[in-house]
Amino acid sequence: MSSGGFGSQNGTGGGTYANGPFQSPIALHPTSQDYVVGQPGCPTIAQSKAPLISGTNPSRPHQPATEVSLYQNPSGSSLPIMPPGPLQPMPPSQPAPNNHRMPLSPPSQSASALPVSNSYYQHPPQPTSWQYGGQSHIGAPSKGIQPGPVPNPGASQVYSMATATPPSFHNASPSPGHAPITASANHVTMPAGAYPSQPGQMSKSDGTAYPPLPPGYQSMLGVPKPSPVHLPTQPYSSPSQQYQQPPVGPAQLSPSLAALSLQSQTPEALRVINLLQERNLLPPGPIPPPTPCLPQDLQKFNSNPEVFRCTLTSIPQTQSLLNKARLPLGLLLHPFKDLSQLPVVTSSTIVRCRSCRTYINPFVSFLDQRRWKCNLCYRVNDVPEEFMYNPVSRSYGEPHKRPEVQNATIEFIAPSEYMLRPPQPAVYLFVLDVSHNAVETGYIDVVCQSLLENLNSLPGDTRTKIGFITFDSMIHFYNLQEGLSQPQMLIVSDIEDIFLPTPDSLLVNLNECKELVQDLLKSLPQMFAKTMETQSALGPALQAAFKLMSPTGGRVSVFQTQLPTLGMGSLQSREDPNQRSSAKDVQHLSPATDFYKKLALDCSGQQVAVDLFVLSAQYCDLATLGCISRYSAGSVYFYPSYHNEHNPAQTERFQKDLKRYLTRKIGFEAVMRIRCTKGLSIHTFHGNFFVRSTDLLSLPNINPDAGFAVQMSIEENLLDMQVVSFQAALLYTSSKGERRIRVHTLCLPVVNSISDIFAGADVQAITGLLASMAVDRSVTASMTDARDAMTNAVIDSLTSYRNSVLAVQQPGLLAPACLRLFPLYILGLLKQKAFRTGTSTRLDDRVFAMCQLKCQPLTHLMHLVHPSLYRLDTLTDEGARNVNDHIIPQPGVLQLSVEKLVREGAFLMDSGSEFYLWVGRNCNPTFLRQVLGVQNYADVPLNMNQLPELDTVESTRTRAFIGWLREQRPLYSVLHIIREESPLKSIFMQNMIEDRTESALSYYEFLLHVQQQVSK
Ligand SMILES: [Zn+2]
Repeated sequence: MSSGGFGSQNGTGGGTYANGPFQSPIALHPTSQDYVVGQPGCPTIAQSKAPLISGTNPSRPHQPATEVSLYQNPSGSSLPIMPPGPLQPMPPSQPAPNNHRMPLSPPSQSASALPVSNSYYQHPPQPTSWQYGGQSHIGAPSKGIQPGPVPNPGASQVYSMATATPPSFHNASPSPGHAPITASANHVTMPAGAYPSQPGQMSKSDGTAYPPLPPGYQSMLGVPKPSPVHLPTQPYSSPSQQYQQPPVGPAQLSPSLAALSLQSQTPEALRVINLLQERNLLPPGPIPPPTPCLPQDLQKFNSNPEVFRCTLTSIPQTQSLLNKARLPLGLLLHPFKDLSQLPVVTSSTIVRCRSCRTYINPFVSFLDQRRWKCNLCYRVNDVPEEFMYNPVSRSYGEPHKRPEVQNATIEFIAPSEYMLRPPQPAVYLFVLDVSHNAVETGYIDVVCQSLLENLNSLPGDTRTKIGFITFDSMIHFYNLQEGLSQPQMLIVSDIEDIFLPTPDSLLVNLNECKELVQDLLKSLPQMFAKTMETQSALGPALQAAFKLMSPTGGRVSVFQTQLPTLGMGSLQSREDPNQRSSAKDVQHLSPATDFYKKLALDCSGQQVAVDLFVLSAQYCDLATLGCISRYSAGSVYFYPSYHNEHNPAQTERFQKDLKRYLTRKIGFEAVMRIRCTKGLSIHTFHGNFFVRSTDLLSLPNINPDAGFAVQMSIEENLLDMQVVSFQAALLYTSSKGERRIRVHTLCLPVVNSISDIFAGADVQAITGLLASMAVDRSVTASMTDARDAMTNAVIDSLTSYRNSVLAVQQPGLLAPACLRLFPLYILGLLKQKAFRTGTSTRLDDRVFAMCQLKCQPLTHLMHLVHPSLYRLDTLTDEGARNVNDHIIPQPGVLQLSVEKLVREGAFLMDSGSEFYLWVGRNCNPTFLRQVLGVQNYADVPLNMNQLPELDTVESTRTRAFIGWLREQRPLYSVLHIIREESPLKSIFMQNMIEDRTESALSYYEFLLHVQQQVSK
């Protein structure tokens, strides 16, 4: 390792760039004791192998030891936050107490964690005790999730309660005649005759829809037809004969909450819904996050949920209460989000708790004008003299009116004590694959052109540096030193022992050498135009990049178009296309070599992040290559089937993404620390980073599009607390060389009743956290295990709700209104590229989907889980929004079912990175002419990716709506206009997650499956 001493890559107590002048003792534990340290980026603390639901479920006391769940055992597997005080060695992890059902991974796993070679993925094999007994409710999912043979058309009673043992759910194993799922099984079942008997309306085919009241349901149960469990308009507090639920009023709340009036937590959250009967659960527009049940004077200061939110907006008082609710507890963060309003404070004194180093925030209490009490550790601190003056009001003696205590999100410009070296300049290194394969795709032109256009917009100042490396079987460096008449290429052919030919002239000052840089960018696309070199020495190129960047730190952008074939890190294809849709578990989700991970850790230690752009038609082994970004806090971008000419849609996306990438804000040499009120504890992080200590993430780069998730547990009972707080502090160097600290603080109430916990559940945050947990599970255990665990998350929470919240049992599948979308979202995840089975999914596509689920901020992630469907041919201005003087229509969101399509219509599906505009065969001619600019359906081109700019009301409206959707996300969404014959139609249909496919359950079948398990 080269010198510099800017943070050791193994995360030990060197603690460079710790979040503040005083380190929390947690960061200082000796390496040998701190078992977090050695497993960078990976949530060792969580012992993520241990798939436990802690505690026991009173409803199923005799459950065999086969529970599969995403919830980890907090007491057995998490690190307590060390109390401040003398350094003490971290206790070794304890084996699970006997009452846990699953064995934990051996403690030695963590204790020996040190070096990088100890790969995160090298967990011991799955304990053999994980057998899915028929008695256990999880017995079914692994099999049951895959439906059996397609039932008889029209035989909706197959799904009725009458069938005590529907073949797909209860058979211990598929019948011998069970049809193997074929590679072509990726089409939604739309049997012949699915087309309308009624004009324009697609008929309900088996599984694609379900009847409002399944035939046979009531009769077989022998109960009278239940009246709707709850009328939508009926407020929760109205008396109800069907069931008595503990009323939720102040008297029933915890004493702490009783004092806080129920201001925002409307009883609506707990309104009981029978999911089997209420079909229309989607609200017409975006789903607002729940508002924490806090007094208005606290809530008005609270963090923006788009930046910082919690899966449970009411925190359980004890871990046992949390276990009982069977809902995951965790935070979702978008810490560097582009904000239109961000208060920035310049002050020589940043006021922090002397004990736990928490930044002063709106939720501290002032005992008097001279003392404030920390809301995380309760220490009483002095108010510094400077803080008595309020720069905003220019008044003295009102510390509680300072911006720091008026804003949950705030940024400080840090004084010099927050620096261990002068802030680094912005340094950008571009590493480009120039092999024959790469040249063939034409991507080099796009990169060079985009850089030329945005060179002056790269974030930075007069110190900004830039450099280039290209590679095929050799590594090419470019001397761009001021004074040269043209760029000078230096070729290093010895890829086994990489050295830098002229170390001082390869990264140059952008301002001083701009002309040479522009010359290079103009000539690069032609330089390799005739190359016949097919080899790729990516590993050595990355080693060269690391050497070049080590002295300063910065950002490396790598563009790769094939599997690396030469030198360190060369790989062989691990994908067998014939196995893609195999019923067997998905293989090769973990890296083939730890070369990229090790190099990433070296990079992280030198404040270098690596972003990876993969543009390829073939398998590139993203599971292995992605490690270079994952552990260095970089990002992965993936453009499958990229080709400048043959795939214009992909090229357009690449161009737009590059522009965003090159010009968006960036933070260098960053760390993020998350603190929480004493009693709460962090046990797993999700995202791209390296965990430097229990609560400190090392982020060589931070960008505004990165999201993180954090799992929490309750270490000590929160008995005397009315509220708890969480604080995320991101210390970074801006592109202008300022050291800054962005602080977000979230405050939530503590509750002691299970109904209050349910009332505060944030279903989107829960889904987002579970998605991250399931990605980890797929890698450390298996895809089957991850899928079962997700299904069980629904079953467990609804079982708990049924047994612990509802006083009187009712038939049906009952959920509180706030969780009504939970089964739908989990089904969406099960059908998502990352987790789907039985369908031909390319391995790289799957791995990339997993990367996205781990790194996207929640709002973007939800598009991937549950796309939005809108009807476009009937757009009107009714209810439209006015955004910057543009009228934006607001069509309602439709259920993702073929049942919602009509052949006279045109429908837009927003699945995050892609928009699909499905045009029905009998589509309204006005729409065809006025929006698509064609005379009839037959004229709609097969590969159409743009809406023409027509001077019609309909065209303006439609483009305004799509443009508005696009504006709300950082990366570009490609539009595909599809008709019956389009090759992309199957992808559109796959996103109809409420429908049955040959390999996956319909929503209704899934609900029935959940119901059967809940009722056990
Ligand atoms: Zn404190």
